[in-house]
Amino acid sequence: MTNANAQIADSIREVTAAVQSAIAEGYRSRMIDADDLVEVLLSIADRLDPPVRETTNDVAIPCPECSEANSDRLIWQDDEFVRCDTCGTIYSPGN
Ligand SMILES: [Zn+2]
Repeated sequence: MTNANAQIADSIREVTAAVQSAIAEGYRSRMIDADDLVEVLLSIADRLDPPVRETTNDVAIPCPECSEANSDRLIWQDDEFVRCDTCGTIYSPGN
């Protein structure tokens, strides 16, 4: 629980610091309204629980033969070619 509390406190501090520097640099008014409050609260929530989660081990360019995208099953052979452990295809992700 202490860890979770520390994470929440850190998120609030980070967002607060971002708001303070935005005020200091003139990007944000000292007068806050409901929209600002909502934005700040959502920023804190997004830091604690990012809306787009990191995908597992998926690579950007999957196997052209079987669409395997798990980086653990796509093995670099040299600087150019990757071998797919699922179907055995060797391909060049750069092309
Ligand atoms: Zn494959």
